[in-house]
Amino acid sequence: MSREEAMKNHPAGSALVEEEVEETTYLLDMRDRCDTCGSQAYFRCFFDGGTLDFCNHHFTKYENTIKDVMLDYIDESEKLHGPRKVEDHA
Ligand SMILES: [Zn+2]
Repeated sequence: MSREEAMKNHPAGSALVEEEVEETTYLLDMRDRCDTCGSQAYFRCFFDGGTLDFCNHHFTKYENTIKDVMLDYIDESEKLHGPRKVEDHA
């Protein structure tokens, strides 16, 4: 069980969670496409020279290559399958 799940199951934790009913706002939507294959993008990677969007499949594929050069990234893959899992059918 992850720490987050443990918090939700904890009485005090669930009270906290219920207060946060506002919708999560995502930066990426249907119009954002993977720069490699054109699928819907769930990751935006920030580099010195700009940004690249990736689908779940290609982010996973390139993660090891780009993690050293990217400044930051946004992971919205939870829209796909809840909290991030290793499983990938893309
Ligand atoms: Zn892709």
